[in-house]
Amino acid sequence: MTDPALALAAKIAAVHHRLLAEYGQPQRKGCDDPVGQLVATILSQNTSDVNTERAYASLRAAFPDWRAVMEAPTEAVADAIRSGGLANQKAPRIQAVLRKIHQARGDFSLDWLAALPVAEARRWLDDLPGVGNKTASIVLLFCFGRPAFPVDTHVHRVTRRLGLAPTSASPDQVMRIIEAHTPPAWFYPLHLNLIRHGRAVCKARRPQCSDCILADLCDHRPGEP
Ligand code: SF4
Repeated sequence: MTDPALALAAKIAAVHHRLLAEYGQPQRKGCDDPVGQLVATILSQNTSDVNTERAYASLRAAFPDWRAVMEAPTEAVADAIRSGGLANQKAPRIQAVLRKIHQARGDFSLDWLAALPVAEARRWLDDLPGVGNKTASIVLLFCFGRPAFPVDTHVHRVTRRLGLAPTSASPDQVMRIIEAHTPPAWFYPLHLNLIRHGRAVCKARRPQCSDCILADLCDHRPGEP
């Protein structure tokens, strides 16, 4: 009888290699400001990439540094990020996160996270107001190259349709399942290529299954969400 864990690892490997053949190896963009990445990820909640970039650029233009953002009147921060949506919720969240970061070490650096075990670093980031596992994993993977697998809405949808996780699995459960069955070196390309596939083919409303390179690996049935 096939070991379910081995079968799942083999299926993830097949998906990963198919996606690599289709979309290629994503180039690492680099991240020279982990605090900026954290703020950008908060700004990206419930909005598009275009709006996120616009709001982030506007925030950086409005204030000279993170201390100025932290100490500004909350309305001024909200005004600066208005184009990103939900400004009145995101502005106090960003300021609270900056206060916590500053309290930890007296500056606005997160470089010390690189020396912590991943689970500990993730717990610390998770405890920041408004920061969940997805945001924590993005910072750890993108900025520090740590083995953390972020699960956004596309990754959550595509992995469950494929049958890499149960249909009822939460994003955190998908994260744990993928991390347990995937070589860490694949986390970055797999995360980005699943997003690309989710946007281009495995769309939320109408997945284009007849054109999908993963169709023969997929557990999704027509009519299912
Ligand atoms: S076959 Fe359909 S549901 Fe499955 S991954 Fe492809 S597009 Fe998504």
